[in-house]
Amino acid sequence: MKIQAAVLFEPGKPWSIETVDLAEPREGEVLVRVRAAGVCRSDWHIRTGETKHPMPVVAGHEGAGVVEALGEGVEGGVKVGDHVAFNWAPNCGSCFFCGKGRPALCGEYLEPKWAGTMLDGTPRLSLGGEPVYHFTATACFAEYAVVPAMCCVPLLKEVPLEVASLIGCAVTTGVGSVLNTAKVEEGSSVAVFGIGGVGTSTVMAAKLAGAERIIVVDQTEGKCEIARSFGATDGLLMGDGVVDEIRALTEGRGVDYAFDASGVVSVQEACFESLRAGGMAVLVGIGPAGSKLALGSPEITRQEKTVTGSYYGTADPALDFPAYAQLYLEGKLPLDQMVTQRYRLDQINEAYTRLNDEDVARGVILMGD
Ligand SMILES: [Zn+2]
Ligand SMILES: [Zn+2]
Repeated sequence: MKIQAAVLFEPGKPWSIETVDLAEPREGEVLVRVRAAGVCRSDWHIRTGETKHPMPVVAGHEGAGVVEALGEGVEGGVKVGDHVAFNWAPNCGSCFFCGKGRPALCGEYLEPKWAGTMLDGTPRLSLGGEPVYHFTATACFAEYAVVPAMCCVPLLKEVPLEVASLIGCAVTTGVGSVLNTAKVEEGSSVAVFGIGGVGTSTVMAAKLAGAERIIVVDQTEGKCEIARSFGATDGLLMGDGVVDEIRALTEGRGVDYAFDASGVVSVQEACFESLRAGGMAVLVGIGPAGSKLALGSPEITRQEKTVTGSYYGTADPALDFPAYAQLYLEGKLPLDQMVTQRYRLDQINEAYTRLNDEDVARGVILMGD
């Protein structure tokens, strides 16, 4: 079928809206009419070239839509008409990590995923007979997407599809880092560095967990304001004195938990510095390839500090997507308030120009009417 998609032909160039061919879903795959796709930074890294990827590519990994057709052998989980959110990290269910309940660490499908294909190693997208690649096997900056059935997580139809799309990446990454990775306790003090979709989700989960003090740090006052509307108690501007300011707000001790949602090495180090003895730094943003952190070795030992990563919120999407959707429906996670801008697919370049603007928590691209 012919579909409209935002195609990136080479890093540094704008997204180009093209009519591309999308082949039928094969065994184990599903055709989804995409309705919403979040404007996430991971796609931007493809555009800038910081993340290497075969080109041309259709990006978009934070998506949701309606299942239109099933390929062979798709039974059980997903049906035509289901509303689904995309899981961009399919897992095998049978390896060492899957067996330990750690699906985010499963490496089984990393090869086809980074080759930009479906799990069988071939793409479904093409343009003029030449292959076009799929970012994370989801490629949802498009009207339709063929995706592996295991990447589709059905959600209740009461959940708006723009909210469902965010559950597919930013929400699960941020909320999961608080509830699954750190397991923040009631009464805790928390710092969150970097307020976008992930940072906002981290703040609302910290509030849900009963954190008493939620200090956010960002480059702009506008982002701090957004975070306050989700439960942040204090907003600080990123700068040299920020660690001292955090200590001043926590009786000189530092915070129990510090989350980095920026992926910037110097910010991750500030995250570590802002911890109290016995505190935990959770690195959620991904630093540049090959980067290293300079952390005080004696402090780690003497002050029993923990530094951990959190990838995709240490989540099991099949269980956690519906759980976070339920918390939204119960009014415990105000996920609809995260959507601060809405765009059409042909406004994708504008959407990415606005990514860092003060008034943006999360932009969403809405397909169709
Ligand atoms: Zn596995
Ligand atoms: Zn994302």
